[in-house]
Amino acid sequence: MDKQGFTTGIVHGDRTVGVEHGGVRQAIHTSVQYGFERVEDLIGVFQGTKKGGFNYARQGTPTTASLERKITSLEAGVGTICFSTGMAGISAIFLTLLRAGDHLVSSRYVFGNTNSLFGTLRTLGIEVTMVDATSADNVANALKPNTRMVFVETIANPGTQIPDLEGIGVLCGERGLAYVVDNTITSPALFQPKTVGASLVVNSLTKTIAGHGAALGGAVTDTGRFDWSAYPNIADDYRKSPSKEQGLLQIRKKGLRDMGASLSSEQAHSIAMGAETLALRVARCSENALALAQFLEQHEAVGRVFYPGLESHPQYGIAQSLFRGASWLLSFELRNADRMIDVVNALQLPVKATGLGDTRTLIIPIAPTIFFEAGPEVRKSMGISDGMLRLSAGIEDTDDLIADFEQALKLAV
Ligand SMILES: *Cc1c(COP(=O)(O)O)cnc(C)c1O
Repeated sequence: MDKQGFTTGIVHGDRTVGVEHGGVRQAIHTSVQYGFERVEDLIGVFQGTKKGGFNYARQGTPTTASLERKITSLEAGVGTICFSTGMAGISAIFLTLLRAGDHLVSSRYVFGNTNSLFGTLRTLGIEVTMVDATSADNVANALKPNTRMVFVETIANPGTQIPDLEGIGVLCGERGLAYVVDNTITSPALFQPKTVGASLVVNSLTKTIAGHGAALGGAVTDTGRFDWSAYPNIADDYRKSPSKEQGLLQIRKKGLRDMGASLSSEQAHSIAMGAETLALRVARCSENALALAQFLEQHEAVGRVFYPGLESHPQYGIAQSLFRGASWLLSFELRNADRMIDVVNALQLPVKATGLGDTRTLIIPIAPTIFFEAGPEVRKSMGISDGMLRLSAGIEDTDDLIADFEQALKLAV
């Protein structure tokens, strides 16, 4: 499997583990309980001595396990846990691996709901420092003796800032810090955070991995690069397992079993079907996003365009060297913010909706929606202006998208 290409691995992966009746994809296993001929096996599953067994669907089913294997393979990791949403995966990492008195350093440019979650962590006695992670020096300067973890997103939504992914990886390696990378915007089709030393990788499966916008899901993958035996917050019960398994074991038991944000088999199946075309869709979406970014950048009604595939982007060099494409996420500013509503309403193709990584192009004004609750101060610190729009490029034909923007932007000239 490892020697095969990316998409070959996705579409043939299920068959390598013997699906019932020769099915070429995993069945949807709806059973909540799993019974055994011999009670010793039931005991073995509970105690973890019988590997790969199931007892109760809150901790996983054969269908979610199949999706977990797929994501592990896409991220070249050692294991994955799926959750009901991306946010459930992210909160499980923080709530199970950090304790009161610990310190977390995060990029200042993060998904709005992750930012909001940091507020909750602070009420639980976990310190959070947010820095401009486009420079690893800023991360280094924020470290304290109680720092346990560093968190970044590969391409920040909506500003498209890219952290110094390699520099931070080196720093975390030297200091023994868990390095958590949210890979949602790039997806493993464009980038594997393992290559820059990430310990844990987060993917919101809701976005580009499913791609159809018809299922919610999240995944946390262990890359195998972190020495959990040296991490202070692993409970004694999980210390008996090999070092590589301890982190995920604690996340599965404390984050999934105890907190219960489990992915259903139906959703896992729907995500796995979408994932088959991941690389094809991401390549097409990246092409469309680049064409639109180039078109918008030269348009008189448009101010700044934020897209890592443009040479004008501050981290263009990093995107070129680390990513196989610059993703579907692009933001831009209208010079005249007062025309924003009219321009967006005049667009025929892009769906006026939140959400990212869909087959359809989606557009949303940022300040009055996803960053409304954050308030003007946070928006200013994140570089979000009132006339800024976020676009998630879909797989439509490029010329159709450009023509649509051409006619709508006439209203803002
Ligand atoms: C959407 C998103 C999430 C959360 O994922 P959900 O599946 O919607 O909970 C996390 N991180 C990033 C970067 C996202 O875009």
